[in-house]
Amino acid sequence: MARPSVVIVGGGIAGLAAAWELTGAERGPDATTPRVELIEAAERVGGSLGTVDFADRLIDTGPDGFLARRPEATQLIDELGLTDQLEAVAASGASIWLRGQLEEIPPGLALGVPTSSATVRAVHGLSWRARLAARRDELVPRHLVVGDDASIGAIVRTKLGAEIAYRFVEPMVGGIQAGRIDELSARALFPSLLDAARANGSLMRALAARSPAPVRSTTAPAPLFASLRGGVGSLAPALAAALVTRGVVVRTATRVIALRATPRDEHPWAVDTNDTTTPAHALIIATPGAVAGDLLHPFHPDLGALRTITSAGAAMVTVCVERGALRLPERGTGVLIPLATAWTAHESMMVTALTFLDRKWPRLAREDTVVLRAHVGRSDDARWAEMDDAALVERVTHEMARVLPGFPPVREALVSRFPAGLPQYRVGHVDLVAAARAGAPRGVLLAGNAYDGVGIPASIGSGRRAARELVASLASRETKDR
Ligand SMILES: Cc1cc2nc3c(=O)[nH]c(=O)nc-3n(C[C@H](O)[C@H](O)[C@H](O)COP(=O)(O)OP(=O)(O)OC[C@H]3O[C@@H](n4cnc5c(N)ncnc54)[C@H](O)[C@@H]3O)c2cc1C
Repeated sequence: MARPSVVIVGGGIAGLAAAWELTGAERGPDATTPRVELIEAAERVGGSLGTVDFADRLIDTGPDGFLARRPEATQLIDELGLTDQLEAVAASGASIWLRGQLEEIPPGLALGVPTSSATVRAVHGLSWRARLAARRDELVPRHLVVGDDASIGAIVRTKLGAEIAYRFVEPMVGGIQAGRIDELSARALFPSLLDAARANGSLMRALAARSPAPVRSTTAPAPLFASLRGGVGSLAPALAAALVTRGVVVRTATRVIALRATPRDEHPWAVDTNDTTTPAHALIIATPGAVAGDLLHPFHPDLGALRTITSAGAAMVTVCVERGALRLPERGTGVLIPLATAWTAHESMMVTALTFLDRKWPRLAREDTVVLRAHVGRSDDARWAEMDDAALVERVTHEMARVLPGFPPVREALVSRFPAGLPQYRVGHVDLVAAARAGAPRGVLLAGNAYDGVGIPASIGSGRRAARELVASLASRETKDR
């Protein structure tokens, strides 16, 4: 059989990683490597990843780092020969804005959920009601019947009360996903919470028992987060350049508008853009889930259900200000702001979190100026989308000034917008994805952040896994054809 041809739809980090794996990963292509064409709708590859010159620094416009304790991103960086570019995060911890005060988030949390009433007592901005609810969970835990899945909010609210759920856990768990804990699936995002809830005793004690004990080691622990010296966004063009030298056809500014099954055995698929059709043996669909659902719904109703994996939009406002009188919390990489924190009598604050970029990444530190980033937007808060850049910067910097004493006038500002950045894993997500994968026609694989994890490592892992499965299925097809 001639070399099979594979089309990858979507050139975010998942699609690029899939192409890397299809072309032999670290060992490189050989005579059996498929011909690969990657089609990306935007002007450039990378999806949410990107970098830009800002305030005399090269900064990330999207994600600025990745979880380094998962192997997928560091492994890919290693395979690309970029290990010497890795930069470990230089600070840890964060503060939370509660009752008009900043306070450091104490240790003793499992992914944002307290694991003892002592942890709750250590948060001064939580009321006596929250403390009582936490103590009650240890002494007379509330009963909760949990099935296959439940929302993170339902579990935490029932067991620990509304205040801990919405003022404390939501800014951490919901903030990362830009979603609401009352909708987000514990099974998909926080399986140890579901497991702890099922134990049906004290949620906090069960979580503590499931949390890894702090490792005692004589060597320094591996950093939790890492980036690259050129920004984590530099990973995408580096990977694309390596793919091009391997013969991968990378097409940008080209949207796939339809996928067609053909009766031709040698090329069972046709991939349509506005002005081209590419025949293919197999496909990896690495677009957002809702786009995958649109393209694939004609082939199985469970693929059509992918359209319900909607994404929350988000925006980030990065500002450069003079160090001068600005007073940041002594430690930590930023500040979390609970949802529904009042801004005026009628409106809540828009900013959900602040990141001190140059504390995290020493390459961005300068003597006279500081770069800070504000995050806005959630699944149920798209106010940012109604504002132009100037209005958004003005509103966000006013909010920053309330939280950070001595906040000076802004020297430079940059707005990055992600209209469909963060997929929402709602209750039932795991079953929905399993059904879609089972319904996918032979030779069609799903990859990307809509399925098995939202972070960069998970997205890379999903692309590479899809590619490995595809290579295996192409090999078994060839054996049958002989
Ligand atoms: C604001 C923000 C901050 C984040 N911060 C972090 C962080 O700090 N750390 C971390 O690990 N993760 C972070 N993430 C998550 C992470 O960046 C993403 O989940 C990951 O990059 C997703 O990669 P992907 O390839 O699956 O999807 P995307 O990056 O969304 O790529 C999908 C691609 O498909 C293309 N496409 C869509 N439709 C079509 C079509 N019809 N034809 C062709 N192409 C199409 C799109 O243009 C896009 O380029 C953040 C995400 C956002 C939005």
